[in-house]
Amino acid sequence: MRSLPGLPVETAPPERVGVLVLGAGLAGCAALLAAAEAGRYALLLEKTGDIGGSTVKSAGLSAFAGTDEQAGQGIADSAGLLRKDLLDVGKDRNDPALVDLYCEHQLETYRWLKDHGVRYGEIHAASGQSAPRSHPADTTRMLELLLKAAGDLGARIMLGAPAHRLLHDGARVTGVRLADGREVLADAVVLATGGFSMNPDLLATFAPQMEHALRQGGAGNQGDGLKMAMALGAGVRDTPYIKGTYGHFHVEHPDEDGTGILAVYKGAIAVNREGRRFVDESRNYKEIGDAALAQPGVTTWQVFDARTMALANDEVPIYEFAGRERAGMLLKAGTIAGLEAEIGLPEGSLRRTVADYNAAIASGREDAFGRVHLSGGVGERTPIDRPPFYAHPSGTVVLATYCGLTVDTRMRVLDWWGEPIGRLYAAGEITGGFHGAGYMTGTSIGKSGVFGRIAGRNAAGEESELQW
Ligand SMILES: Cc1cc2nc3c(=O)[nH]c(=O)nc-3n(C[C@H](O)[C@H](O)[C@H](O)COP(=O)(O)OP(=O)(O)OC[C@H]3O[C@@H](n4cnc5c(N)ncnc54)[C@H](O)[C@@H]3O)c2cc1C
Repeated sequence: MRSLPGLPVETAPPERVGVLVLGAGLAGCAALLAAAEAGRYALLLEKTGDIGGSTVKSAGLSAFAGTDEQAGQGIADSAGLLRKDLLDVGKDRNDPALVDLYCEHQLETYRWLKDHGVRYGEIHAASGQSAPRSHPADTTRMLELLLKAAGDLGARIMLGAPAHRLLHDGARVTGVRLADGREVLADAVVLATGGFSMNPDLLATFAPQMEHALRQGGAGNQGDGLKMAMALGAGVRDTPYIKGTYGHFHVEHPDEDGTGILAVYKGAIAVNREGRRFVDESRNYKEIGDAALAQPGVTTWQVFDARTMALANDEVPIYEFAGRERAGMLLKAGTIAGLEAEIGLPEGSLRRTVADYNAAIASGREDAFGRVHLSGGVGERTPIDRPPFYAHPSGTVVLATYCGLTVDTRMRVLDWWGEPIGRLYAAGEITGGFHGAGYMTGTSIGKSGVFGRIAGRNAAGEESELQW
């Protein structure tokens, strides 16, 4: 079990606390700090032996609009444009009140994170963003900074302390029972236990279409909090919209942590085991993910040439093509025929596919799948003709579940009739309603920070019944 710089790690739970937070990902750490800043005695229980959950496995991109980094790069963006994009991407199935809440508080949360020492790298565009607004950060460092600040204010954490059941007195949640039977009473509880990307049973229940998808996420992300809240009658939203992400993984290294590559957005095509393309690769990586799952044998390959390799950027995980080559995770050949043989595709198939693709580009027309750009409506296609040629075996992976508990704009958990469950709050990937039917890159980390902070602050506002 690791020690945390600046934050005392408890080995036995106190009997009572003001705010009890479950889960040490970004939502939980933000909630803990916000509760501590509001002057409450706050305790965080983390199931596993370490902090981080999916947050520290992620690419670390947050979707913010109107930031200093954007201004520094001459990027025009605004909360209004962010709001429009969120609703467009979510196909207007999002809860507009949560979208408004995010847009209203994202910039102040960004400043709060920066005030606590978080630093963001170069901004770039990604899925669903009409202006570049993916802000990369070191998420492990981010959590350590938040926990240190919380510890300085008296907050505490316990690792290896899985919450098992919520305690309820008929009117309100009163605390939590741990898996070992010990209980902690609290004035309010914040559920920040993440999604259920690592729970095959819950995925089979809510997203049977993901049966053949790979899975990624924090080891503890089993949907515990979701089940605990549902046992008290909590509602859920957005479960039909669970999607997998394309290319974010290497099918032959399924246990590898971290992200994969999206060479398709820099010039690659995606082919199936028949050597054929199957999608317009400029589309949202979730849609490409759906298309890949429908291919025979599920495995596909991103195929590209030296021109695309030259656009590799090791600072942006999804464009870390050179890093993948160094790690021995790319197939490589001097000719397309050679690559076809390396992959084991039917003879002549990849040659025909690449020739057709290059011919469509040369003629200036859209190809058989309607592709005219590299990514979204941006970037000109380039022919795949410059050796050496590369292939990255790519699958569809469920990284996050994007759906979950119904919450109001105070982050109170609502039951199926829309009534708050007394003193129960939730934030982060465990919640539904914000994304709607589609996903914009950076909004999972984004919502964990923005809504985690709001949940912690509001939970801290519950009247204290502590007898000190
Ligand atoms: C490879 C990958 C790349 C990604 N890239 C991005 C990205 O760039 N941008 C983006 O916005 N999103 C990204 N995501 C999604 C994003 O990381 C998550 O949605 C987000 O970090 C969730 O934060 P969270 O705090 O809600 O949950 P988590 O960070 O998952 O934390 C939840 C914590 O709760 C703990 N827990 C679970 N059950 C219990 C229990 N019973 N008791 C106590 N603790 C419990 C877990 O162990 C875990 O530590 C990515 C995800 C992955 C896997």
